[in-house]
Amino acid sequence: MPENCPACGATVIRFEGEVAYRCDNINCPARIKESLIFFASREAMDIEGMGPAVVEQLVDRNLVNNVADLYRLSLEDLLTLDKTGQKKATNLFEAIEASKSRPLSRLLHALGIRFVGGKTARILAEQYRDIDVIATLSEESLVQIPEIGVKIATSVVSFFNEPENLETIEKLKAAGVNTREAEPTVVDGKLTGKTLVLTGALESLTRSEASELIEKHGGKVSSSVSRKTDYVVAGADPGSKLDKAIKLGVTILTESEFLEIVGNKGQVGTMSARQ
Ligand SMILES: [Zn+2]
Repeated sequence: MPENCPACGATVIRFEGEVAYRCDNINCPARIKESLIFFASREAMDIEGMGPAVVEQLVDRNLVNNVADLYRLSLEDLLTLDKTGQKKATNLFEAIEASKSRPLSRLLHALGIRFVGGKTARILAEQYRDIDVIATLSEESLVQIPEIGVKIATSVVSFFNEPENLETIEKLKAAGVNTREAEPTVVDGKLTGKTLVLTGALESLTRSEASELIEKHGGKVSSSVSRKTDYVVAGADPGSKLDKAIKLGVTILTESEFLEIVGNKGQVGTMSARQ
């Protein structure tokens, strides 16, 4: 039952195993907007002020056609946005600049490679440390990593086989966007050897930020609670992981207790950047 994309009229397709139909026209404005909004979001490149309303205008005014174009925007371009004065434009310009030094894992997640969420992006970044290395991997080598199955491996390989995507990555590099992961710098071992599970919504941190903090302090993030779990960090509406932790007698930390252990979140996002 194919239909047409409301934004560009292209025939929409459905990927195997997925419920939703999606527009496969890479030049579809709706798709471009969606990918830009995700790229700039807090869990991805974290460009403050680059929300849906701004993205909408940038694409409609032909200032931006892909994620790499964001890094070509001038202050003057940003001043043309609705209700945007010198201060707002400057803040946005600086936020775009700051996003150039996000860790490789953030960039990998932000690119929107199918099936590559924050966790898989971190695994890939830690294992290979350079987007150019990841771009040359075969499915056979990717599936050697325990957390990576055939579905993810196929998706990664096909993403990096797409000339358009490689061109975007070259443009990002040329703009000075970080595409490498520094060697892990565990600043202290407050969580060395500890396994933590996150559950519920945290107030001051996204899941990616919390995971980065844990790893930075030498800890490991796991997705399920077991007897080997040292701490469960419970946010709002925690769900069954919390019940299991209580049952197993695992230490439960509130968000503020967790933050007390790892210090504040001030250094999140730039800790493994290399310029
Ligand atoms: Zn479309």
